[in-house]
Amino acid sequence: MTEEQRADAIQALKAKVRGPCPLCGKYAFEVADLAHVIPHDPSGAIVLGPTIPLVMVMCKHCNLVLPFAAVPMGVMKAGEGQGEMQP
Ligand SMILES: [Zn+2]
Repeated sequence: MTEEQRADAIQALKAKVRGPCPLCGKYAFEVADLAHVIPHDPSGAIVLGPTIPLVMVMCKHCNLVLPFAAVPMGVMKAGEGQGEMQP
């Protein structure tokens, strides 16, 4: 994830997300440096095909990780990261 994408993600989250961490109740969220993708295949097979790009947000207090869909957030374009598996 680029610095611009990270800034876009933070802006999108601030515009719509309210409230503390659902597990620990703290306000300690941080956007991870890497975007992740979930392979999407109706059969359930893990393939290098269509993917769902995600912005990962972590609670720095309890380490809960929450995935947010990067395309509707405006952080990534549809098809960006296709076929790439990221750690
Ligand atoms: Zn937490």
